[in-house]
Amino acid sequence: MEDCELCGRPTEHVYVVDVEGVELRVCPRCAKGKKVVRDESVPAKAPKPGRVQHAQHAELQLVDDYGARIRAGRESMKIPMRVLAEMLNEKETFLSRVEEQKTAPPEALVKKLEKALGIKLLEEPAAEASESARRGKENATLGDFVG
Ligand SMILES: [Zn+2]
Repeated sequence: MEDCELCGRPTEHVYVVDVEGVELRVCPRCAKGKKVVRDESVPAKAPKPGRVQHAQHAELQLVDDYGARIRAGRESMKIPMRVLAEMLNEKETFLSRVEEQKTAPPEALVKKLEKALGIKLLEEPAAEASESARRGKENATLGDFVG
């Protein structure tokens, strides 16, 4: 909302008109019969600059100790690997490899494991983690690789 520069009335619809070489911001009523340079009917409550923020879908990551968590969950429920394999309709050998962290479980299996064992295998990437990752990178540039 701004005031018309001719009649002083507040107006939402602003026209920029050319009055004897001078640009005036006026209301539609005053713009009538004048040379309209441009239509500035952009409302004051225009969309905020910048892109519309999409609800950030934080990518969940497999926890570092997923094998240990699976084992702990399995042990707390006293489920032998063979039974767990049957429950999840998975190969026992495959589950063993996952529990030994030789193989990262596919997402579908992660969901099944979480549900069956009542554990959490996914986490949002922690700020701390990226912090240490950053530090790790810095260290790397300093040539701190050992082994
Ligand atoms: Zn006016």
